[in-house]
Amino acid sequence: MKETKPKDVNVLPGDRLAVSEEFLPGRHTYDSAGLIRALAMGSVQKDMKNMEISVKPAVEPEVIKVDDWVTGQVEGAQASSANVHIFFLNGKPTYKDFSGMLSLRGLSGGGRGARRTTPVKLGDVVRCRVFSLLNGIIHLTIDEPDMGVVAALCGNCGRPLSRGTATKAKCVECGNVEERKLARDFGTTPIQP
Ligand SMILES: [Zn+2]
Repeated sequence: MKETKPKDVNVLPGDRLAVSEEFLPGRHTYDSAGLIRALAMGSVQKDMKNMEISVKPAVEPEVIKVDDWVTGQVEGAQASSANVHIFFLNGKPTYKDFSGMLSLRGLSGGGRGARRTTPVKLGDVVRCRVFSLLNGIIHLTIDEPDMGVVAALCGNCGRPLSRGTATKAKCVECGNVEERKLARDFGTTPIQP
């Protein structure tokens, strides 16, 4: 498949930029067995003073805005909030090191007064809506049908969980049932970021 590249793009992820004897790997590059390769699509920039080579990504600046949606992995979960490491921004991979705070407060369960005890768990892949950027923190919510856990592993045997009911994921392997705030498309493969 042929892609049309923007004018300022001359490297693609994985492209060889230099050998590590010549340059140090700068931003959006990595050193792979003595070769410096591009991590992002963009244009090459050489810093001859520091002998550093980097890639200026074609899509910059990448800024998260309110109402964007992000997909990431739960890195820490407490009773009222969870930390999410963001890998996708509006469905596209992001190479920036974004982390958001997912609010779990007020997530109502199946019935009136029902309390969801475990909306997300450590390691879950979740799709979230950005609802505030107050104090420089990316505040996330999953209180929408399309938002929530899109992939999770069984806490018992480690296999991927399948959809059980609207609020319960089921392990086909061992029969374990786990409660989550599931996204509407939970259980479909491949995962849609
Ligand atoms: Zn299992």
